[in-house]
Amino acid sequence: MTTIGILGGGQLGYMLALAGYPLGLHFRFLDPSPEAPVGRIAQRVTAEYSDHEALEKFAHGLELVTYEFENVPVTAARFLAKHVPVYPPPAALEAAQDRLNEKTLFKKLGIATTAFEAVDCAHDLDTAVKKIGLPTMLKTRRMGYDGKGQWVLRTAEDVAKVKQNFPDGPLLLENLVTFQRELSILAARNRSGETAFYPLVENHHRGGILRLSIAPAPRLNPVLQQAGERAAERILKELNYAGVLTIEFFDCDGELMANEMAPRVHNSGHWSIEGAATSQFENHLRAVLGMPLGSTATEGASAMLNLIGEVPEAGDVLAIPDAHLHLYGKSLRPGRKVGHVTLRAASAEELNRRLAMLPAFFRREEFCLELYRSARIAD
Ligand code: AMP
Repeated sequence: MTTIGILGGGQLGYMLALAGYPLGLHFRFLDPSPEAPVGRIAQRVTAEYSDHEALEKFAHGLELVTYEFENVPVTAARFLAKHVPVYPPPAALEAAQDRLNEKTLFKKLGIATTAFEAVDCAHDLDTAVKKIGLPTMLKTRRMGYDGKGQWVLRTAEDVAKVKQNFPDGPLLLENLVTFQRELSILAARNRSGETAFYPLVENHHRGGILRLSIAPAPRLNPVLQQAGERAAERILKELNYAGVLTIEFFDCDGELMANEMAPRVHNSGHWSIEGAATSQFENHLRAVLGMPLGSTATEGASAMLNLIGEVPEAGDVLAIPDAHLHLYGKSLRPGRKVGHVTLRAASAEELNRRLAMLPAFFRREEFCLELYRSARIAD
């Protein structure tokens, strides 16, 4: 019996397990929350990541450990690595958890990224603003997600204001990039060094939360795709990586600028469950187990819409041809990702028609209409 241990018991872990069952795999999850949704479908250990006794017990009999959450303390991953193989390597967690490490890695590998300066105190902020210039963006280096812990500073008054109520912890100042759109690439590397890449995906956020992903990204050309793959390849090799890696980019007039990376499966890859020959979840498992990777070829065009805090009537969604509903079994709370819908179609034109068939639930807010308009895929 092959049992895989997963740190983090959220929806990404849930979908990893669903992809692994047909391969005959078993799963054991560790999450500090007794509410973690994987409890529905797999063994769940409820313990803190700092509880070494619990980690040791958790590791017992596992084939390997992976993670679905990048803020797992590196110390926990390293502790586990003494007992059982851990993939992706803990060094990838270390790089991704701290924006300074992440951007330094991009720079070292020749991957274009924003100008950046570390900021540890109010005095550093003045120096960094002088170097980078206004407008600029201040971010917490650690634990930032879904747009939290970020401040856009456009004027000297904005700088003065943030200094009065200076945020805790180490920070990073970046130049405020002008970009046309946001893209991401999902890449996989297995333990023998074989790699595979999904096509770049176009992502639309609102309130710092991903709302819609279109795959492949509209107007994707081979030059752009190669640039994404080259960046991913460098990181995979440098970290001797095994698993799925995600890099998020800004598309600046056809030039990719790396913003951040996640050493795990990613929300912008959920479309691959129905929209690619092999999903990101299955490929992550194949990669960490050292198995051959599956084809990343797309099957038509896909759009993935997150369900945030509430869910539509299932029948309304499923009435659309080739629509797929995924509910994670989480309690409904504002701002929480509780499920997603993937629409798939043979062509971009057909996908546009299917987006237009979405029930009123998806149109209550004006931004949705704007979103679909701006994401029109056939132009
Ligand atoms: P992040 O947490 O780094 O993914 O940032 C959340 C969102 O803020 C991104 O998806 C962008 O829309 C925006 N953003 C982040 N960094 C920058 C930047 N340097 N310049 C302009 N926009 C940014």
